[in-house]
Amino acid sequence: MTAPIPPAAPLDVFRPGLFDGQVALITGGGSGIGRGIADTLTALGAHVVLASRKQERVDAAAAEIRAAGGRASAVAVDVREAERVQQVVAQVREAHGRIDLLVNNAAGNFYAPSETLTANAWKSVVEIDLYGTFFCSQAVLPVMRGQGGGSIVNISMTLHYRGWPLMAHATAAKAGIDALTRTLAVEWARDRVRVNAIAPGPIPTEGVRKAFTPPPTAEGVPDVFAVDRAMASYAKKAIPLQRWGAPADIGNMVAFLMSPAASWITGAILVVDGGEWLAKTAPSA
Ligand code: NAP
Repeated sequence: MTAPIPPAAPLDVFRPGLFDGQVALITGGGSGIGRGIADTLTALGAHVVLASRKQERVDAAAAEIRAAGGRASAVAVDVREAERVQQVVAQVREAHGRIDLLVNNAAGNFYAPSETLTANAWKSVVEIDLYGTFFCSQAVLPVMRGQGGGSIVNISMTLHYRGWPLMAHATAAKAGIDALTRTLAVEWARDRVRVNAIAPGPIPTEGVRKAFTPPPTAEGVPDVFAVDRAMASYAKKAIPLQRWGAPADIGNMVAFLMSPAASWITGAILVVDGGEWLAKTAPSA
């Protein structure tokens, strides 16, 4: 009989209090993967600052983390606005005195045929993903340099490794993020700022679950178990390790990259996907 596939690795592989006194700024930290990263880091003692456009979203997430005993605060920012990003970074430095980790996780995405993708739709995704990653990284550099170093982790993807129909905007932006990761890693190493990226496989955040939701039946009755069935079947077929990812899988990799165990790692793009992209064939458009 095949052994069951274990879930995301337990947190106790990291020393309790590993990040006591450290500060992590996480864009898009109020939902999905960003929230999972925040949960991992706060469980290990870090103070997380959750940053995204909707103040109420990041406020609610920060309040939940504090209620669970963690340290968290929230700030509203649109990462496409370079000046606002500079203000927010100055605000975080003022409040906490340092920024040890920046996670560039905020992103926009949707399926759309390239042929009819509007200029605005293209611009919006490329600006959130690629420009936002650059603006936030550039803004934290002087803070990290001033404190003797720091770590930047960019959240990429794997879909651009082979090309992915209906996602020209996001795949182009993430390919840019990979290039940026390597370039900044080399440029900023002299300031002891390490720049790495994580390329997650499929993680069932709200948007991904929506994409797997089949239309209601002919009688208009929604099948509430259909998403879970569709997802289980996808995992069996398309993911060699036979399970979907969890935000904690990415949180654990971020914790490793932030830890002293990764002090000689920069410019790396680490795939965390259960083997999915190696085994995948792209759907047709
Ligand atoms: P999500 O839940 O939709 O999170 C995206 C976050 O980005 C939201 O919290 C959103 O908050 C924030 N955001 C969007 N536009 C922003 C802007 N202009 N400025 C600041 N914040 C903004 O998505 P997710 O699935 O967790 O994905 C997180 C990251 O993982 C993304 O980089 C995504 O490309 C990557 N990824 C995900 C998967 C997956 O299967 N889920 C796979 C590969 C890669 P507001 O609306 O409040 O701004």
